[in-house]
Parts: sequence; structure tokens; C-alpha cells
Amino acid sequence: MVILFGTHPKYVEHETGTLHPESPERLIAVGRGIEICGVKDAVQLFEPEPATIEAINRVHEPAYTDALRRFCLMGGGMLDPDTSASVGSWDAVLLAAGAGLDAAGRIKAGLADAAFLAVRPPGHHAVSDRAMGFCLINNIAVLAADLVSQGERVLIFDFDAHHGNGTQEMFIEEPSVFYVSAHQYPLYPGTGRAREVGIGAGRGFTLNLPFHSGTTGSSYLEALDRLVAPLIEGFAPTWTLISAGFDAHRRDPLTEMGLTSADFSDLTLWVSHMAPLAKIVAFLEGGYDLAALEQSTAATIAALAGQSLKPEPNSDGAIDIEMISALEESRKRALSD
Ligand SMILES: [Zn+2]
Repeated sequence: MVILFGTHPKYVEHETGTLHPESPERLIAVGRGIEICGVKDAVQLFEPEPATIEAINRVHEPAYTDALRRFCLMGGGMLDPDTSASVGSWDAVLLAAGAGLDAAGRIKAGLADAAFLAVRPPGHHAVSDRAMGFCLINNIAVLAADLVSQGERVLIFDFDAHHGNGTQEMFIEEPSVFYVSAHQYPLYPGTGRAREVGIGAGRGFTLNLPFHSGTTGSSYLEALDRLVAPLIEGFAPTWTLISAGFDAHRRDPLTEMGLTSADFSDLTLWVSHMAPLAKIVAFLEGGYDLAALEQSTAATIAALAGQSLKPEPNSDGAIDIEMISALEESRKRALSD
């Protein structure tokens, strides 16, 4: 068993300013996760190659990519009230967008079984023509689009506490990408309602689980079993990509969800058991409590190796049947409209 761990020294050169939650220190915490993951012997470090502009422009407008490059190289600044770039951000985004392509190539060549990519900046909020929510280029979407171009069927499981609006929008009409997001709602960026189910040929291939604040692991797993499991079976993905944001951890300073690192182990094992033939690549997205990041990364890497590692107990809380039934109803209505 070989689990790739992709990271690059240039990821810390994407500077966000003092006191910004999306800090370079996050990657140090994530790296410490390897030390406590219990499967360190299976972890193989690699430094990803940069993505080509062509690969990035499968999901981004060429004019945006070019404007972002010039903005970074001229010194950077604020892209929106939360999102900034520095001179070092351009190399970082190319290497973050390239990490998935590089990892997938190694997995396809039989050199590894799965990958965890400790990238910065994160990606799932970036839309085709705009940076937002700490994200400049949509890393997971760059890989998904590349895989689709090769005839693959891609499941994207996004358990970041925020809805991955950028990823959803890029594949909203694409039936070869099944986008599943579990997130806090209402919360930034405001999208991700259960009635957002996809458009045109992509109708039915977007599934949102907007959870109340405080939702715990038992409700996540119940919703996945009830709403997502039958659809994954029918979809039969050849690849599973995970937007592994750890900001649904109960200690996260930006959100109010109820998970612990042990729950991230369960979520990762759940999706790997649901699609046993799919190759898995996990991308770091959010997660702003450094100790939670370390423990959650460890739990996720162990799960990629098929092991259940629980650095702390699971969250406790009853299954919120009322919330889950309401989500199910809302999705059914949207699909029958
Ligand atoms: Zn997030």
C-alpha cells in the first residue's frame, strides 16, 4: 500500500497577510499529521509538478487565468474582501493545480494506491472567472475535468464545512461528474441548498446536504447512507476526489459544525467502501484550527490506507431525522419539477 502525500515548499509562499486564517502554518500542522497517522511507512512524499495553463483553462476562463498571473507577478493584493494574492501565489497556484494531475498520473501508472494533497491556496470556491473565499484556482476541478476528458466517471465528495460553489458551478451540466457536498447552511458562500440538483444533462448529478450548525457525525453518516449511497452505486465512479476541508471540526474558529477528527476517518472510509473500485485523491481545502487539522489529516490519511484511526472520540449526538427527511423531500421535489 502506497499513499502519496503531495506538498511543495512554494505553497507557503502564497502569503495572505498577518492574522489571516488561511495561513502557511496550516501546512506545518497538516505535515505533523503524518507523524501520528499510524501508517507512516505507507506514506510516500512527493513534490508535484506545476499544471499547464491548458489544464487550468479546462475549468477557468483564459482571460481570468491571465489576469490572475499578471496580478500576482505585479505584487498581488486583495482579490475580494477575504481573498488575497502575493508574488509567490502564482507559482503556488500552478503547483496546487498540478498536484492532482501529478498524483493521478502516478496512481494510474501503478506507483501508488491513493493520494492526499496538502496544497495551498485551497480551491473549491474559485469559479471559472473569479477568485473567492481564499481560493484562486479550483484545484480539484482541474483534475476532475482532466479525468472526464479521458472518459472517466468522477465522484467529488466535498466535506468542507462551506459549500463548494465553484466546483458545483463548473460541473452543474456534466453527467460524468457527480458532485456531493455536505456543509453548514446557512453559511458562506450561501449556495448549496438541497434543491440545487444539477441542470440539463447534469440534472441529478449534484447532491447537496445543507446541515444545521452543530450537526454531528451520526447525522452525516445517516444522510450519506440514505441519500447518497444508492446514487453512488448507480453512478459507479472510476475516480473519487475528496475536497478534504477540515473546518467542520467542532473546534474550527470559522464555522459551527460538530465533527471531530474521528468523524473524518468515518467519512473517508465510508466513501472508499461505497466506491471500492474508484481511485482516490484527497485535496486539502479549509480547516483553521491547527490541532484539529493535524488530527483530522492523520485520520484521513489512515483511512486512505484502509485503517480506522481515531485521535479523539467521535462526536456524540442523535441522528437528526427531521433535518434529513426535509432534505430528502426538498431534493425529490426539485427533481420532479
Ligand atoms: Zn471551508
